[in-house]
Amino acid sequence: MISFPLLAEQWPERFDESIDEQGNSFFRLNGDEFVYILDDTTQINETAEKIISLFKKPFHFVNYEFFSSISMGISIYPEHGKDIEQLLVSADMALYSAKKNKGNQYSIYQVKMKGLNDKGLMMESKLYNAIKENTLELYYQPKMDIRTDRLVGMEALLRWKDPELGFIPPDQFIPFAEDCNLISEIGEWVLRNALHQINKWNEKYKVDLKVAVNISPIHFQEANFIERLQSIIQETKVDPKNLEIEITEMSMMNYNQHLIDKIKSIKQLGITISVDDFGTGYSSLGYLKEFPVDALKIDRSFIVNMQDGKSGVAMVSAIITLAHALNLEVVAEGVESLEELEILKAHNCEYVQGYLYSKPLSTEEFSKKIEEYLL
Ligand code: C2E
Ligand code: CA
Ligand code: CA
Repeated sequence: MISFPLLAEQWPERFDESIDEQGNSFFRLNGDEFVYILDDTTQINETAEKIISLFKKPFHFVNYEFFSSISMGISIYPEHGKDIEQLLVSADMALYSAKKNKGNQYSIYQVKMKGLNDKGLMMESKLYNAIKENTLELYYQPKMDIRTDRLVGMEALLRWKDPELGFIPPDQFIPFAEDCNLISEIGEWVLRNALHQINKWNEKYKVDLKVAVNISPIHFQEANFIERLQSIIQETKVDPKNLEIEITEMSMMNYNQHLIDKIKSIKQLGITISVDDFGTGYSSLGYLKEFPVDALKIDRSFIVNMQDGKSGVAMVSAIITLAHALNLEVVAEGVESLEELEILKAHNCEYVQGYLYSKPLSTEEFSKKIEEYLL
């Protein structure tokens, strides 16, 4: 809702306008978003509450009752914006703040945003829009079997390029998304897109590649994670054996029976699980024998340390031996040189990822890689 006593005519023509009984204009912005323009700024709270009270009752349609909720973000001219575009940005931020409080809420930009970090809120609303408008992108890094020098799959890595802020690296916006409760939505977006893509590649090239998806511990720990995962698998019609889930070692540290059961259920679906960034946790290896995981991904820092000579190599060799003793496969991350590759081969590591083979690639670039490697 925008309180904009001036010219409703300034409203961009692309939107259809309707006028209500009080003579106020409203527009459908997109999907389920509407803008209501109120002339009288003294009536903001009353109007917002009136609208919310309408949504507390069911709607009747063909003998059925439907319940719906509404969230409203309010901006006021001229304090929160001197033109429609600015007012919409402010209203959007306020809307986001209202949505976080879940269901039938409104928030006024001025009041609710006070004391909040504007930059953080701007990022939050931009990220929220990036999900909604599908402007996030997945890149894929090849995973190679070094025993056969064959491409076996890829890791999906998220990219976000905001038109104003530019490229924002995932290790910056993922923790941010975790803080502001957007991570599960992002995680589901990544799963859905990665699974659609692996289907396309496997069908087009008649191959059986596996895509690895990073799942944040916050998303993973959600009560309905498995149900949601199952529904995405059904929706995308992917064979679960073509999906691998990467969970960081850190998120396995404080394990309990609940987490163990969850991992078991995921395995029962036929999905592979690997422990990401292995070696960066607190060296508590207890969880490894409890968790029915399939693979360890040795963190890049260990691969880099192999250059230090014997002790660096000994560490990597010890991790590989430990993994094999537990019947786990090993993936070395961040392999950049032939020298590193040779050492890993000599110590019976199975898989590698790294710039030596390829950086993460866009979908189009990756398609060319498949052709190069497999055909
Ligand atoms: P990660 O899961 O450990 O991913 C590996 C990171 O190492 C990627 O960085 C990759 O581009 C980079 N890398 C791969 N090979 C090499 C190499 O040879 N040398 C060097 N220097 N770097 C290499 P990226 O894509 O910037 O991702 C950073 C982190 O962001 C990821 O670390 C992961 O923790 C997180 N992330 C990325 N995408 C997602 C996602 O979809 N969901 C979640 N929850 N986290 C994600
Ligand atoms: Ca990873
Ligand atoms: Ca990693």
